[in-house]
Amino acid sequence: MSQKAANAVPIFDIDNFGAGVEVTEVAEDTYQCTSFANCTAFETVEGLVLVDTGLAALSEHVASELRAHTDAPVHTVVYTHGHADHAYGLDEFLLDGQAPPTVIAHEAMADRFDRYARTKEYNQVINGRQLSADPGAAEYHDLWSDDIFDWPEHPPTTWYSDDLTLTVGDTTFELHHARGETDDATWLYCPDRDVLCSGDLVTASAPNAGNPQKVQRYPWDWADALREMAALGAGTLLPGHGQPIADDPEAVERRLLGCADYLDTIVDRTLEALNDGAPPHVDIVREVDLPEPEEPWLQSEYDCGEFIARSVIRYYGGWWTGRPSELKPARRAALAAEVADLAGDAETLASRAEALMDEGEERLACHLADYALEAAPEDEAVQTAVASVYDERAEAAEDMMSANIFASAVLYANEGRLFR
Ligand SMILES: [Zn+2]
Repeated sequence: MSQKAANAVPIFDIDNFGAGVEVTEVAEDTYQCTSFANCTAFETVEGLVLVDTGLAALSEHVASELRAHTDAPVHTVVYTHGHADHAYGLDEFLLDGQAPPTVIAHEAMADRFDRYARTKEYNQVINGRQLSADPGAAEYHDLWSDDIFDWPEHPPTTWYSDDLTLTVGDTTFELHHARGETDDATWLYCPDRDVLCSGDLVTASAPNAGNPQKVQRYPWDWADALREMAALGAGTLLPGHGQPIADDPEAVERRLLGCADYLDTIVDRTLEALNDGAPPHVDIVREVDLPEPEEPWLQSEYDCGEFIARSVIRYYGGWWTGRPSELKPARRAALAAEVADLAGDAETLASRAEALMDEGEERLACHLADYALEAAPEDEAVQTAVASVYDERAEAAEDMMSANIFASAVLYANEGRLFR
């Protein structure tokens, strides 16, 4: 697969992930390096304490910008979680001949790396779909090497479980574990400098708490962690993605509590719908009245509220959709063939999908489009119609994950391939 997906959203096009690299001194001897994913360097008398290391493909650039401000060796590194854009870029920050740094992480990170190694081929495909629509695209592979599903070159050397207080030189750092986007998240507070590093518990868009293709996320624990952070009254907040908030405790509190409220609202409303007779999961999602925040940093740019509700349902409600036929379903191709026969043929189904799209019934249209392609994947008229339905769906999508998965569906339909 190598065509360009017309309506895919390039990752750098959304505010959450900056394309540029910028290093700013946000507190005394404390440097925030903003790029695709951020990292923070605290200079101490013993050397640098680095929080995260950015995306490996950009870390050479980020490290060289940081080195314009400080030539201290790296003493200690904290990985806020085990994602590719946080735990894989350390090498470029190390000085020639320096002693190996201590690398600290939450103990659940080891299982994460093992899990990636066990599901490497799966992750390569789903990441490709999510981040660039086309798992075969050169732009995708330039940014995300296959190494991101192996243990990092510089793995953690020190593991902790709940909390850890660390002193480097005369500077103290308080590390706290939380479950949020991941189960291995660490947030860190440096009281001496009144700086809070949130990792991806804070980003520049709606929290990535519902990602449809990834493992369980924990929006309720996430909200708790945000409230714990807010209770510190910190002046400076350095998020995992997006711009820092420096020396503005009111803005920091607003950001943390606003995001906690957003998550709690979705969790509460989803559980209420789940408890109302245990309806099929997909019906619950449509019943939840999702919050529509105005703050730019809570917009469904990357993930979205509907997916967060799904995350809650998955955790509390298991894998079954709740629809009786889907407990032990037929093969989709057989079902699609029956539906196509009832309609007349697959082309009729595909045309109806296009008509529904024109009527603004985009969700309904895509169901019929799937059946049409599954019933007749070799039929060129069906391929074209299905591709056009998903092309429009991708163009209309608000969040990047939806846009790129729908854009991926265009590529698959054009090749007469199902999502497999
Ligand atoms: Zn990240």
